Amino acid sequence: MKVFKFGGASVKDAAGVRNVARILENFNFSQLVVVISAIGKTTNLLEEITRCYWNEPKSMELTALVSKLKDNHYSIVNELVENPEEINCKLQPVFTELENVLSSEKTDNFDFEYDRIVSFGEILSTTLVSTYLNTLGHKNIWLDARKMIITDSNYREGKVDWEKSVANVKKEITGTFKNEPASFVITQGFIAGTDNGNSVTLGREGSDYSAAILAYSLDAESVTIWKDVPGVLNADPKFFPDAVKLDEISYEEAIELSYYGATIIHPKTLKPLQNKNIPLYVKSFFDINASGTVISASIPKNLIPSYIFKRNQILITLFPKDFSFIGVDNLSEIFNIIFSNKLKINVMQSTALSFSVCVDNVEGHVQPVIDSLMKNYKVKYNNEIELITIRHYSSEVIDKVVQGRKIYLEQKSRTTLQLVVKGFFTKQSE
Ligand code: ASP
Ligand code: MG
Repeated sequence: MKVFKFGGASVKDAAGVRNVARILENFNFSQLVVVISAIGKTTNLLEEITRCYWNEPKSMELTALVSKLKDNHYSIVNELVENPEEINCKLQPVFTELENVLSSEKTDNFDFEYDRIVSFGEILSTTLVSTYLNTLGHKNIWLDARKMIITDSNYREGKVDWEKSVANVKKEITGTFKNEPASFVITQGFIAGTDNGNSVTLGREGSDYSAAILAYSLDAESVTIWKDVPGVLNADPKFFPDAVKLDEISYEEAIELSYYGATIIHPKTLKPLQNKNIPLYVKSFFDINASGTVISASIPKNLIPSYIFKRNQILITLFPKDFSFIGVDNLSEIFNIIFSNKLKINVMQSTALSFSVCVDNVEGHVQPVIDSLMKNYKVKYNNEIELITIRHYSSEVIDKVVQGRKIYLEQKSRTTLQLVVKGFFTKQSE
C-alpha cells in the first residue's frame, strides 16, 4: 500500500485533475491511499470567507466570495467533462452545507469557526476528483478524514490523538481494501475531527502531515508527495538560479531543513515516517518517471550545501539593568516571556553581559515581548533582519550569500552555519 499526496497546485485546473488521473493510472489505480488538498488557492479564499462571516455576516461581500468559490469549482468541472451534471450533483450538497453554516449564528470561538469553514476546501476537492474518477470507471472509495484522524480541540492546529487515529485509519482503510482489493482510497489532507465530530485543521500546508499520519497508521510501503518542482532543492530557485536537486537526504537532514524554514515539506511530516522507516519521495507531477528526491534513513555520501533564507526576522539584544551577568535566572525569565507570547526562537547567543535572540517578527507578538523585557533589561533591537542557514557549508559559499551585508551574529556547528544579517538576499544572476 502506498500513500500519495497531491497539493493544491496539482489540482488547480482541469488539466491538473487529468494529470492526477494519469499518475494514478501508472500505478493501476490500486492499493493507493490518495490524499488531496483544496484546489489551487481555495484555502486562502475560505480564510477570507471565514473573516467575512466573522465580521460581516449576511453581507453582499460574503455572498460574492461564496459565488467565487462555486465558480472556481464548477468551471473546472465544466472544462473537465462533457456532462458536468454527475459531478455537480455531488458538489451542490457540499455548497449547501457551507451556506447553512454561513447563515447560522456564529459561536464566540473564531478558531472553531475557521476550521468548520476552511475544511470545506478539501471536502470539495476530494469530492470533485473522486466523482470524476468514478465516472471514468476508476472505482475509488471516498473517505472522510475527519472521521479517521482524531485530534484535541485545539482548533487550527489540532494535536493528533495517535492511538485513536491509528485504530480508525486501520479499520477504515484496511477494511476498504479487504472488500475492494482493486480499488483505491481518496481522502482529504489538512483536516481532521474531534471526538465529538467537529472539524479541525492541522495547520496551514498540513496535507503532507496527513499523508504521514495515514502512512504511519497503515505501515505503508512509502509516501509520495507530487509537486510542481523536481524534488527537494538545495535552495529556493527564485533566488538561486543554480539551485540543484538533492537526490537523497536523510530524515534528520530533512527535519533540520524544514525546521530552519525550508518550505518544501511540512515539518511535522517526517517524524512519524522516520519512526516506521517509511521512505518519503518528493516527485514532480509533470515528470512521473523522473527520480525526484528520496528521504530515508540512509545518509548520502556527498553532502551538498543547502541554503535557507528566513526573512522578516527581528534580532533582540538584552542587557541586564542591574549590571549582573547573564545567568540561568535571566534566561528562564526571558524564555518565559517569549514562550508566553507564542514566539519561536530561531537563534540565540549569550555573552557575559548580553543575550541575543532572533525571532520571527510576528505582528502583535513581538512588541509585548519587548515591553515586558524592558522592565529588567535594556533592550536593543533590529528589524529587517534575515536569518541565513547553511547546511554543510564551506567557506566559498558564505561570501556568496552574505553579499557584503553586515553580519550581526554568527553561529557554527560542524554541519550548520547560521548568520543573522541586516537586509535581504537578492537574486543571484546566472
Ligand atoms: N489546503 C491547505 C492549505 O492550503 C493544506 C495544504 O495545502 O496542505 O494550507
Ligand atoms: Mg498546499
